[in-house]
Amino acid sequence: MQLRFECHLTGADYVIQQAWLDASLPRCPLHPQGGCHFARHGTYARVSPPGTRVARWYCPEGHRTFSLLPDCLAARLSGTLAEVEAVVSAAEQAPSLEALCKQHRLDIELPGALRWVRRRVQDVHSALHRIKGILGEPFALVEPTLTAFADHLEVEQVLVALRGIAAAWLDALPKPLGFAPRRHPGGGALPRVQHRAGPDPPGCQA
Ligand SMILES: [Zn+2]
Repeated sequence: MQLRFECHLTGADYVIQQAWLDASLPRCPLHPQGGCHFARHGTYARVSPPGTRVARWYCPEGHRTFSLLPDCLAARLSGTLAEVEAVVSAAEQAPSLEALCKQHRLDIELPGALRWVRRRVQDVHSALHRIKGILGEPFALVEPTLTAFADHLEVEQVLVALRGIAAAWLDALPKPLGFAPRRHPGGGALPRVQHRAGPDPPGCQA
């Protein structure tokens, strides 16, 4: 189970400062009254940024592991939220996803690159829709795009800021922003028709 580690570092600084050593979880989330053998359970490594580790705890009675994910890291996705944000922001502003893909991701074929970008755009826009639904009025007039949220919140890193703003609802928000487990009939991916944020730019059928 993932929990938020409130941390104002970039991914690079998180690694340099080994900030996972500062993560703390004083009580077992399953047994806040105590009585279980909840304890620190080492760390696990993430591939990117290189050298990243995430602190975790374990409750033997609850058979559950808890990891403290810092605000800079994407949930259930490699890398940082800033990296995801850069891709999705660029996609919002690009004339087409194809043009964007031709500029980046040269190591994979175009259809794969399109899926790679589109998945991130859908995940992020789906989270922004959800935040508008949950938080209501403050975001009522804000388009569910990173560009619009950045203007409204007056921040450069929208996704990192939203980890704090929507901290109480992270369990209900989709990855890579939130920690919601995938729960759908058949166990498949999110149904496309419900979560597509809007029409694709022209020339982006994959
Ligand atoms: Zn426990």
